[in-house]
Amino acid sequence: MTLTFVWRPIPGAGRHAFPVAALKLAGDAKATAYCRAEADAAQLHDRSEMDWICETTCAACWKALSARE
Ligand SMILES: [Zn+2]
Repeated sequence: MTLTFVWRPIPGAGRHAFPVAALKLAGDAKATAYCRAEADAAQLHDRSEMDWICETTCAACWKALSARE
């Protein structure tokens, strides 16, 4: 099975699901989550444990992912 998405916490904006391809974007590019929220690609890297704890899972991303199956 191939992993096609990754969850990443965006400080102040919640934990969103992004296509794995978003991890390969340049730092100044915009990554689009499954819920259509945008984040700087640089924000997908080097997340601290604190970011994971503080941000809540995005319900819209969760629904978008479950709708794909
Ligand atoms: Zn989201």
